[in-house]
Amino acid sequence: MWGGAAVAPEDRLDAAQTRAVLGRTLRMARPYARTGAAAFACVLATTACSLAGPVLVRHGIDAGIRVRDAGALNAAVAGYVLVTLAAYASGRLQHLYLNRTGEGFLRDLRLRVFRRLQAQSLAYYDRNKAGVLVSRMTADVESMGELIQWGLLQFVASGILLVGSFAVAVTLSWQLTLVVLLVFPVLVAASVKFQRDSNVAYLRVRERVGQNLSTLQEGITAVRVIQAYAQEAAQVARFRRTNRALFDAHVGSIRVSTWYFGLVELAGVLATALIVGLGGWLVHRGDVSIGTVVAFVLLVASLFEPVQQLSQLYNSVQSAAAALRKLFAILDAEPEIDEAPGAIDLPARGALEVRGATFAYAGGPPALIDVSITVADGERVALVGPTGAGKSTLAKLMARLYDPGEGVVTFGGVDLRHATLGSLRERIVVVPQEGFLFDGSIRDNVRIARAEATDAEVAEAFARIGALEHFEDLPDGLDTQVHERGSRLSAGERQLVALARAALVDPAVLVLDEATSNLDPGTEAEVERALERLMNGRSVVVVAHRLSTVRRADRIAVVHGAHLAEVGTHDELLARGGRYAALSTSVGTP
Ligand code: ADP
Repeated sequence: MWGGAAVAPEDRLDAAQTRAVLGRTLRMARPYARTGAAAFACVLATTACSLAGPVLVRHGIDAGIRVRDAGALNAAVAGYVLVTLAAYASGRLQHLYLNRTGEGFLRDLRLRVFRRLQAQSLAYYDRNKAGVLVSRMTADVESMGELIQWGLLQFVASGILLVGSFAVAVTLSWQLTLVVLLVFPVLVAASVKFQRDSNVAYLRVRERVGQNLSTLQEGITAVRVIQAYAQEAAQVARFRRTNRALFDAHVGSIRVSTWYFGLVELAGVLATALIVGLGGWLVHRGDVSIGTVVAFVLLVASLFEPVQQLSQLYNSVQSAAAALRKLFAILDAEPEIDEAPGAIDLPARGALEVRGATFAYAGGPPALIDVSITVADGERVALVGPTGAGKSTLAKLMARLYDPGEGVVTFGGVDLRHATLGSLRERIVVVPQEGFLFDGSIRDNVRIARAEATDAEVAEAFARIGALEHFEDLPDGLDTQVHERGSRLSAGERQLVALARAALVDPAVLVLDEATSNLDPGTEAEVERALERLMNGRSVVVVAHRLSTVRRADRIAVVHGAHLAEVGTHDELLARGGRYAALSTSVGTP
């Protein structure tokens, strides 16, 4: 498993993919074109200044020192100081503009990704694990950051410096340029090899960091199970393996860079020696001036450094391109539950009808097959049946949390797929088993159901379900911070908050997933009363687990093995002697 270049295929892009991704990045960075252009101008200025240095030195030596012309020497020295200062200034500006551009781009990217994630339907989250999505937003955006902030422009800057240095070198002396070219191929060959090896080593490190992290994460989240079965030693052994593999990968990557950087230095020294040696001979023959030789010694750095940087940067360009591609995949995923063009508002009231609905979760067997049921306006229907029969799935289709594969769901005669999302979420509200509480006050937590609701309306929502007094009796009333009381907000109180949310929306249809766990009898009664008041005057579909809930329903629908087995009143179904009758006589509760 750890052998060879085991690298996730999505981390390896070919040249065409890399180009496509970079092209799209540039298009997305268009709003930052001005700061980007300023940064680029600074790069050009910095490059020009650093190339002017050696030329001025040459002038100082040849036109100043050699012919004892103090004026020319002073001018050259002043010029040298000036371009060095200018290079410093434009370098700083470049840094500033570059980071401004990069950070702005990343800010946009994070927002776009988050917005898209918020628009995605449940089906999307069935296919994509939350942990993976979070790592897209953190690790992948970060490796993007590395590229954008300094990598991309540095890449370009190194290229320009390389070409510029060659141009200057050839202009100064073609003979000495040939001397440099003796060493250059060695450097280029070494760089190409380094780039290949280090790419593999880098991707391997990345992959093993991931593996080590997931072992760590499992060890921590599952620690109770691990200890219950005395598996600590086995887990430590597993971590030792992934940790060791990570160590090997790091050592491997260090080995790759060690020989390379040593070699680059050696090549630099070799080139300098050749320039001085052969240059001396050329000076002696009168082919080049002493100043030119000195200028070449200074130029060697500008020639060799870009090659070294380009090969190092290649990795960060590669990994950023891979990260970007994954982020683009998120951006490109169209939400399945989306508003159709020309969508209309649902009527205020009406019957909720499911006709011939068949549905399967991604890649799974059908969870519902040809189900048809109508919930009349104001009717209460209880869904019962064994675990895994498809009750929750049916409830989710009725609220358009998923669309049926075949068949339709309509409210008041309007196909839910043709309804505006706003009116859909106003008419049909889902109350889940466990309402999620956000950081903030109880009031804020209810207001997520309708952001523009006033304080009075929130209080009114609690009053409508008969729970206002309960919460007003808390020390801070409705302003009590949930995160402070945190998990100490009892299960019953959390359910009351969830019910108040629904009351605030005041929908025509309530879709309830009844909690399976029991509350203490006192709270239980309070939640029951609140629920009863909330259901009053609305259509209700409830995935029922309690006999009392089933008995209070107008009709009962029995779901069995993805089919709607039978529908009718309690008495009708008992008389029929079918599945419901069997369920209620065998266990007492369906
Ligand atoms: P019930 O509510 O009757 O217990 P569900 O409607 O939750 O049953 O589940 C019906 C079937 O669909 C089951 O086989 C279940 O494993 C499967 N299922 C439920 N939710 C998902 C999901 N998010 N992704 C894949 N399969 C699911």
